[in-house]
Amino acid sequence: MALDLIIRNGTLVSATDRHVADIGISDGRITAIEAAGTLTAAAEVIEAGRLHVLPGLIDEHVHFRQPGFEAEEDWLTGSRAAVMGGVTTVLEMPNTVPPTGSVATARQKLALAAERSLCDFGIYGLAGESVEAVAGLIGSGLIVGLKVFLGPTTGGHRAPDDDVLRHLLELARAADLRVGFHAEDESLLRVAEARLRTAGRTDARAHLESRPIAAEVAAIDHAGQLLRETGAPGHVFHLTSLEGLAAVGRWRAAGVDLTCEATPHHLLLGLGVYERQGGLARVNPPIRGEPHSAALLAALADGRIDCLGSDHAPHLAEAKHAASIWDVPGGFAGVETLLPLLLTEVHEGRLTLERLVSVTSERPAHAWKLWPRKGAVVEGADADLTLVDLQRPGVVHSADLHGKNNVSPFEGRPTVGAPVATVVRGRIVMRDGELLGRPGWGRAVNDEKDQARPSV
Ligand SMILES: [Zn+2]
Repeated sequence: MALDLIIRNGTLVSATDRHVADIGISDGRITAIEAAGTLTAAAEVIEAGRLHVLPGLIDEHVHFRQPGFEAEEDWLTGSRAAVMGGVTTVLEMPNTVPPTGSVATARQKLALAAERSLCDFGIYGLAGESVEAVAGLIGSGLIVGLKVFLGPTTGGHRAPDDDVLRHLLELARAADLRVGFHAEDESLLRVAEARLRTAGRTDARAHLESRPIAAEVAAIDHAGQLLRETGAPGHVFHLTSLEGLAAVGRWRAAGVDLTCEATPHHLLLGLGVYERQGGLARVNPPIRGEPHSAALLAALADGRIDCLGSDHAPHLAEAKHAASIWDVPGGFAGVETLLPLLLTEVHEGRLTLERLVSVTSERPAHAWKLWPRKGAVVEGADADLTLVDLQRPGVVHSADLHGKNNVSPFEGRPTVGAPVATVVRGRIVMRDGELLGRPGWGRAVNDEKDQARPSV
């Protein structure tokens, strides 16, 4: 078969090993993996002799804000930032307007994404108030998983009552759909925040104090209990603390299929961020600094944390600079900085490149049932590849990023290692910092047309 693209002489990295090879791509798929220097004829060749070739990154946690909050982000600008940052697939959160809590709203969002996205995408469904609507969504094949907000965040979505949640988890189990939790106990947060507001606190650290670790542990225990009762597979998004990590470990030991995620800001930022960046650093759940960040990084490095997600959640810059912390919305841009920040940890020796591949592609692909079409460089898989230069220095500057609103708590942070090419289903969408993709190239990971092709 004639090849469309060859990636030649790159060091191919998986979660378990690395070796130099040629990769042949035709019709959007990987069709040949051969000894270095053996593939020659193709329409296009990338000489990757100095580069490492990773399975395309899956960012399992982005908020692209569309529909409903298009002033903050949309599918075109969000996916543009993604591919510029080496991300080939995003999984997008349901707290939009309308929320993605029914078949109709899921179809609406998938259509918006299909028209605009430069990268591939999947969406989460919201475990909201209408049991009937969510039940239909669970069986629809339109979503990669369910999201439950146990604590309040952007959009103000509340957790359903336990009897409703239990029913939804039973349905999710039957559909073999993983259920991800925003794990903060709402009642504990309410008490802490009221106390701080009464005391007249408006500073950035008050946000941290308003969301205590006990709330994370209580919510993980709540989720763990429901998951054990129902047998549904679960996931904890944006884990922040040592104690939360231990709670996840306890439920795993109790037999619950529970995966978890860490974000770059919880792994890498210290408490100094509140003094440096003020309210800009507000995110739910909050940045806790040491000893939590080092413990999370160690857990990422040894496999206790399954996935790395950016929690890309942009807001207007003026909103992030509001005078009182209580008026600042939670979240900031992150999809484009995820890879350079973590490659820097590889450079510093705190994480291996193999582990980075595991948490950014292999394990997210398993958790959300995309494996092995996504998350693996094997013959037959989608030709999603991220080529990185491990030595390339950089500095995080919001002004250089490609989303609609790029405020970042990592502003000014030096990095070593950067993506130099992003390939989505065989098409080079970014090369050497130049955007080559076009809106509409991205495709839903659960697109039926796509699944009809030969299996891997
Ligand atoms: Zn989020």
